[in-house]
Amino acid sequence: MFLTREQLTELEARTNCAYCGEEFNTTITGHKQIDHVMPLGEGITARGNLTAACSSCNAGKHNRHVLDYYARSDKFTDELLDALIADLAAQNQCTPKSMRGLLESSRELMSERRAAECT
Ligand SMILES: [Zn+2]
Repeated sequence: MFLTREQLTELEARTNCAYCGEEFNTTITGHKQIDHVMPLGEGITARGNLTAACSSCNAGKHNRHVLDYYARSDKFTDELLDALIADLAAQNQCTPKSMRGLLESSRELMSERRAAECT
């Protein structure tokens, strides 16, 4: 992983899930887990590709792309997505706009690969 100690400490200090906004360690959401925003093994090189998510969201998202999970989750609001993108942009030292572009192109890459596997 390309995480610094500071980044890890910051992730560990988070109190709410990045995907549903719920506090960790409630009976609904369960424990905090560190999730790969973009699934590994997709040729994406981003330094900041990790966030803190509850076990419920982490299980629901599984190895989906974050934008696919966003599209299918009721709790993952626009505000939470904007906050997540701003956070990843800061970790990668780029603008939120280019971070969003990276997420979108990585999602396209994934769906193209999946389509190629089906034929
Ligand atoms: Zn959650």
